[in-house]
Order: sequence, then structure tokens, then C-alpha cells
Amino acid sequence: RFDVSPPWLNRVLERKPKQYVHAVDGVSFDIPRGKTLALVGESGCGKSTVARLLVGLYNPTGGTVAFDGRDTREWLGSQDAGALRRRFQMIFQDPYASLNPRWKVGAIVAEPLLEQGVLTNTADVEARVGELLTMVGLSSVDAGKYPHQFSGGQRQRISIARALATAPEFLVCDEPTSALDVSVQAQVLNIMKELQAQRGLTYLFISHNLAVVRHMADQVGVMYLGRLVEVAGKSELFAQPRHPYTRMLLDAIPDIHMTGRQRVAVQGEVPNPLNPPSGCSFHPRCPHATARCSAERPVLRHQGGTQVACHAIEEGRI
Ligand code: SF4
Ligand code: MG
Repeated sequence: RFDVSPPWLNRVLERKPKQYVHAVDGVSFDIPRGKTLALVGESGCGKSTVARLLVGLYNPTGGTVAFDGRDTREWLGSQDAGALRRRFQMIFQDPYASLNPRWKVGAIVAEPLLEQGVLTNTADVEARVGELLTMVGLSSVDAGKYPHQFSGGQRQRISIARALATAPEFLVCDEPTSALDVSVQAQVLNIMKELQAQRGLTYLFISHNLAVVRHMADQVGVMYLGRLVEVAGKSELFAQPRHPYTRMLLDAIPDIHMTGRQRVAVQGEVPNPLNPPSGCSFHPRCPHATARCSAERPVLRHQGGTQVACHAIEEGRI
């Protein structure tokens, strides 16, 4: 379970001082072990901020980030910080930027093992690196090459091998395939699914691509301007989206089931995340908004098997 909790995390400070990133507030979710929760939303909704907060790349300016009830910052500052670091890993969007171009692939994959003191004997490290590369469909020969000798899809597989080095339980994947050609995206996603099944990995999977989410997720959390507006099982969400924003997102995707449903463009633009609208921050774009919506912020509540934050649903208007 994660809680990025009140008191209001209005702004989240990046490690670089004085640079603000997209705000998130009151985001809490549970991910059952071995399952995938996908976070979706338009850019600027705070998805990447949640990811970076969870792995400790950003420090919250207020409130806490907790994992299994324990404050992650406190944990990272304690003696068993290594235990948390080994349990969590992150896979980034851009495999070009996230691999050190001057290091050979073997060193890149071995770094977390050495840094965390998981293995110290050179022969063991070498064997483990070969194993990790094989696990993602490469070979131990590739350990002696540089990242530029690989394609984008192969580089992302190298990032995955590196992320798996310390045998983590939980992977935060921030748009892991969106920098890749469509033709190699599926390949990388399938490797991730296989590894999840084999190793019982738990994923927080961040994407703006609903087709990718449909392929990967068990549960889906829809974010809008730093808040969760709907959390539902994948099938429920795609079959019966509840929140007006979720409906808008789904209406904008091509009709993959050929039901004859018209594709509707996403209406309006995302407001400035540093100055979100009052009440329900979706109200300027919502066809069901009333005066209550601009005055009062709806709370995420259980409605049947899903969680939704919307006055109109609560009032039974939609
Ligand atoms: Fe629309 Fe109001 Fe529901 Fe927000 S709370 S999504 S504005 S109906
Ligand atoms: Mg992002």
C-alpha cells in the first residue's frame, strides 16, 4: 500500500532546488502482490511525480510517502535503507538517457549488485550478469558491449535486467515503452509480463497509452491534476468507465472492438497544474458540472466494485 497523503502535498520539490514538478495530493492505492496497477492520465497529471516520489527520487514538500505503513524517507535514512532499495526498482521511459553511454553493459547491470553489496565475488557477479541478460532475451556476450551498439528495444531490456539485478519485488515503470517504435513495444511489454509471472513481481505501470494499459494492467488508476479520480479493475474500467474524465479518455481512443462507437476527441486542455481549478478540478471540462462541482472537491469513494470521485455519480445524476 502507498499513501502520498495529506496534509496537502501541494508541490513537490525536485532534487534540483527551486524547480517545481507536477503536484500530487492524497494519492493512496493498494497493489496486490504479483499484480499491476496502471496509472493513466494526460501529461501533467502527476503520474511521473508519483513514480519518483515512491522510489525516493523526489522529496515531498509536505506529507508523507509510505510503503507498507512505513514512511519511505525515514526508511531510506535508516540503517536498513538498503532493504528498501533492494525491494524497489524503477524503469524509466528513455533507455537512451538512463544507461551510461561510457559504461559497458555488464558494468551497468552489475552496478546495483555491487552498490547494494548483494554480491562481491567477481565470478559470482559475472555469472549473475549473464543470467540477468539471458532473462531479458540477450546473452552474456552482450555484457562486453556499449549501450550504443544496441537498438532501443534492446536497451530497454538492458534497463530491465539492471532493475532486476537486486531481485526486487516491486517495479515502478514510468512509460517504459513510449520512447520505442510500436513494433518493438509489444516485445518489451511481453517480456515484462513473462518476468512478472515467473518472479511474482508487482508493477506500478505508468502510461498515457490506453492500449498499453489494457495489455498490462490488472487495476487501473485514473489521475487528473494530481489526484486519483477513479480506481477500478481493468475489465470494469474499459467496459463501464464511471468518471466523466475516464469516459472522455476512453471515448478518444479508436474503437478497437468495432462496435461502431464514434471516436470523440478529448475536450479542452489540462489546466495549469500549479493553479488547479477550485472544487472538482475537472469541472471546466466536464459536461455534468454543477455549482457544487466548482465549490466542493469530490472525495474518492467506493461505488460498487470501483472507487470514484464525482458529485454527479454520488447524486445519481449519471
Ligand atoms: Fe464533473 Fe462534477 Fe463529477 Fe467533477 S464532480 S467530474 S465536475 S460532475
Ligand atoms: Mg511523465
